[in-house]
Amino acid sequence: MKALIKDKPVRGGTFTDLSIPRIGDSDLLVKVHAAAICGTDIHIYQWNEYASSRIKLPLLFGHEYAGEVVDVGKNVTTLKRGDRVAAETHVPCGHCYQCTTGLQHICRDMKILGVHMDGAFAEYAVLPAVCAWKLDPSISYEVGSTMEPFGIGVHALSKTKPVGKKVIVFGCGPIGIYAQMVAKLSGAEVVIGVDVSQERCALARQTGTDFVLNAREVNVLEEVNRLTGGQGADIVVELTGNRGVLNDATKTLRRGGEVVLVGLFSGPVEWDLVNNVIYKEANVYGVTGRIMWDTWWTAQSILLSGKIDVSPVITHTFELTDFDRALQLAESATAGKIVFKL
Ligand SMILES: [Zn+2]
Ligand SMILES: [Zn+2]
Repeated sequence: MKALIKDKPVRGGTFTDLSIPRIGDSDLLVKVHAAAICGTDIHIYQWNEYASSRIKLPLLFGHEYAGEVVDVGKNVTTLKRGDRVAAETHVPCGHCYQCTTGLQHICRDMKILGVHMDGAFAEYAVLPAVCAWKLDPSISYEVGSTMEPFGIGVHALSKTKPVGKKVIVFGCGPIGIYAQMVAKLSGAEVVIGVDVSQERCALARQTGTDFVLNAREVNVLEEVNRLTGGQGADIVVELTGNRGVLNDATKTLRRGGEVVLVGLFSGPVEWDLVNNVIYKEANVYGVTGRIMWDTWWTAQSILLSGKIDVSPVITHTFELTDFDRALQLAESATAGKIVFKL
């Protein structure tokens, strides 16, 4: 099968031929139809510190995907050939404290598809059945491949009660835009998106965010004060993972507000806790991944309701052979979701 792998500890990837993988007794073999590029894939492509400290080569990377089940392991009873599935990328161990208390998504022995085990930038992928979400027939494979990142936006906002609130989201990449859409759907009075890319700001405007601020062009704090009558935002969602942004982001928070931290910082950060958290009596939440399967049910319900259309967030599709162009566009942080069609 055609596959995009990482086999050298340098920038880039290798398009190659692999044999179709064998599945274990509790796995599915999935014919991949759509696989989206995630920030993690960019790290792997670049071979930065994040990637080199975690990943054993060679690796078939890519983990946000949807496809058709073509074979099932002998222990699998809940899915069959021909089923359409999307992948939950956090593979839980099933028996630790977290897994046995409804917190599989933060399992202490969690493996991640396309990071700790082979992923899905290939014609076929092995998916542990425990991580398979059966796709509703009305949801396309392309949109299905983005349910995993969409779920992060859903999970992030689920920590708060956005109804009637002023919500600001730092970052207008795909997950930032999903978070803005979910905030709006959840009844936020006003949703503000912030980014530094013209293209991403334009996409956020196009997908319905009330006010979009380009931090290169305006003073974000002043604008937020103007838009919120000097009050500040009730809810701040941080999705940039940029160390320089965190303090500025939380300066826009009103006293007694809520901060949701989702973006991954590349190392320890300096955060003025006294002024941004303690004196404000802010509630701070960390969010990672999606609750299994609570978030997926919610994400599916939102999509089936038709009240959010996530398809415009997919701004580019590529053939897998064109991976260099696709990954370089992704790393430029000027596009929406980029999906390989297989
Ligand atoms: Zn991902
Ligand atoms: Zn576990």
